[in-house]
Order: sequence, then C-alpha cells, then structure tokens
Amino acid sequence: MKVSQAVITLGGQGTRLQSISASIPKPLYPVCGLSTLERAIVTLTREGVNNFIFLLGNNSDAFVQISSYLERTYKCYINIYIESSPLGEAGALFHVLDSLQDVFLFVNGDIIFDISLKRLSHFFADSNADIALVTHFTSHPEDSDCVLESPSARVVDYKLKTESSTQKPFFLGYSGLSMLKREVLLDLIQAHSTSTAPCSFFQGIATPSLLKCASVVSYNTTEYLKDMGTPDRLEAVSRDLAIGKVSSLSYRNQQSALFIDRDNTIVRCPPGQYVLSTRDIELLDLNIRYISDIAKHYDFVVCVTNQPQVAMGLLTLAELALINSSIAIKCSAFDLQISSFYCCPHHPHDGYPDEIPELKTRCSCRKPMPGLVYQASIERNIDLSTSMFIGDSQRDELLAQAIGLKYVDVRQIDGSNSRSTTLQD
Ligand SMILES: [Mg+2]
Ligand SMILES: [Zn+2]
Repeated sequence: MKVSQAVITLGGQGTRLQSISASIPKPLYPVCGLSTLERAIVTLTREGVNNFIFLLGNNSDAFVQISSYLERTYKCYINIYIESSPLGEAGALFHVLDSLQDVFLFVNGDIIFDISLKRLSHFFADSNADIALVTHFTSHPEDSDCVLESPSARVVDYKLKTESSTQKPFFLGYSGLSMLKREVLLDLIQAHSTSTAPCSFFQGIATPSLLKCASVVSYNTTEYLKDMGTPDRLEAVSRDLAIGKVSSLSYRNQQSALFIDRDNTIVRCPPGQYVLSTRDIELLDLNIRYISDIAKHYDFVVCVTNQPQVAMGLLTLAELALINSSIAIKCSAFDLQISSFYCCPHHPHDGYPDEIPELKTRCSCRKPMPGLVYQASIERNIDLSTSMFIGDSQRDELLAQAIGLKYVDVRQIDGSNSRSTTLQD
C-alpha cells in the first residue's frame, strides 16, 4: 500500500514561541537552516507523498506565499484550506472531505520528524486499521494524550491530556502524526456538525472512532518525532538536528537496541509468584540504575518477557499491558526509558484450572526461543550485532547465545537481587 497524501495542520496561535519570534508562525521559523514545514515536506516527499493539504487559520498569508516555492522545489501539489473561524487542530478535515484520498496522513505542523512511511504503511495495512496513531514513550504523560496498547497494537484504552494519569499510568503518548482512512470522517460527520467546540485529532477524531468500534491501532516507534513549539523544546530539537539524531533514528537506518528481561531483572518476582496487578510491582532500583547507564549507549530499550500467567488464566492481555505501562512509567523516574514490551503469553503445559486452551502451545516466542527478539528486530530494523541483552536467567542467556547477541547477567551487579532460579520466567 502506498500513501501519497498528507494533510498538515498549520493554524495554531504559536503563543508559546513568542518569546523567540512574535511575527513568524512556528512552522515557518527556521530551525538549523530549514523551517519545520519545509523539513516535513522534505521528509514526506522523500517517502513518496506528493499531494498536500495545508489547513490554515492564523497567519495564512505567510503559508500561502511559501507554498508555490515548496511546490516548485519539491515537485508536489499543495491544496490550501483557510478556515473562517477557529476549528481547532483537525476540525477543518470535515471541510476538505472531497479533496481527501482514501488513506492519508494527518500531521501536526509543529513537529520535527523523520520516519519510514513504508513501514508505517505496511503496519497500517497489515493491522487492518482505520486509524494508526503514531505513538512513543512520553516523559510527560501527565499533560499528554496517551494510549494503552494491547500486544497486537490495538488501542485498548486512552487518556486525554486533560485527564489525570494517576488512574491511567499510560506511557505511550500520541506524537502528532497519524494515518487514517477517509471513511472514518464520514462516520463522525454527524456528531461533528452538531458540535461547535474546536476539534483536536486525538479527542475529536481518534477517541470517538474508537468508541464507535473502529480499528484504532498504536504504531509505537522510537523514530524521531518531537514538538518544537516551546523555546526549551526548540533548543533540544536544534541540538538533535545538529548531531544527526533526527535522521539516524529513522527505521530507514539500522538501530542498536538494548533488550532487557522484566521479572527479576527490573521487577522483583519471587519464585512461584507472579506480578498480577500494578500493586505487585516492586522495582529493583539498583538494577534499573545500572541498566539505565548502559542504555545510554543504545538507540532504545526493548523489554522481552515470558508471561505464562496469561495462558494460565491469571491475567488478561489488557491487565498485562497496564502492568507493563506502569512499570515503564516507574522506570522513567530512574532515567530508564523502555520503548516497548514484547511478551510471550503462552505456556506449554496443561493442568491449570483457569487456563486458556488456545494459549497452551509450544510457541516460538517463549524464551529461550528467539521469536520476540526477531519480531522486534524486523519491526524496528535492529542490528543484532550491535545490540545486547540483559537478563537474569538461563532462558535469557540461552536465547542470547543462540542468536549471537551479547549478554550480561544482571545478577553480577548485586548479589541481593539474585533470587531467581534458572527455571523462572
Ligand atoms: Mg527474569
Ligand atoms: Zn509464546
């Protein structure tokens, strides 16, 4: 599947950047020599997009002026919509329905990003999605629109940026970029026409679609997508551009990953017991500090864990997702950023009273089988020869050995944590 259209929303007030520039709209402010809008056009045309719709509100003149330069330079077509009253980030989508292709990208004009659209498009098609929200680890879930994703990447719950994150400890934030089907908007048009509130993409389109049982999925990525909309963020993004981080993290390029085990590597799990709720989470602080130091040498951290409790019927996949999300948030307080969790829910043996028969299977993802590491490597273009695994058990070590992955046993750093047996998951 090839996606060739992007709608870029450019109508924001830009107040947060006014201490730097009161007159230039944020997406047109030069960052390392190129405006954020032009940078988006560079990335998107390179990835095969040649048809753009600019949704404009404030300062529309400045965008109209630059659009013919962009069309000429990047050999693309730009359609412009100027709203007569503020419709919010995404409200104008309902006014450009006739110009939309069946599948298109929706892009917040304030983000600096570089992602492989080919991978996103494949994911969108493979997961049979109506909307794919590009998500990533957020260091500030308390004021972000967040999702909880199931192991199959379905969005199973969400938190609006206005909601408290205490009840919903979700670590994946919406990045400001999504891919969706035009028909999603047709399903919402009635509700939209009766509302006068400004429409944000997450709250006004993604979550109502989810409630209408559309297939909303989370494309969790470590590729670079950052809002440059405040002076602090602008400085951070400029630094990242200068050192080449924005393009090097794209999945067009090979990545180095730090794979970590979960139970008894970052979370205490005494023999014969399982972590079955967020209340059971007890972090292994020393291990986490140690792992967080090592993680600085890798592009990102992926947690790979056997969770046979799911097959035993002790835990649902949604409960497991919530536990993992909560662990990710707790670890971030120690400066350890876990980008994603790959979990084996299977168990090979029968005989548990509440077991789920279809998960009782000899799979290729239960460690020491390497299925989950291979899956992550394919999805995230990971070079295993520059990656590493940190675990606490023989299963972890056997996995690493079998596929030539460098291995470190976390027990070597602190004897007091070495409670797991070689048979534990
Ligand atoms: Mg373990
Ligand atoms: Zn499995």
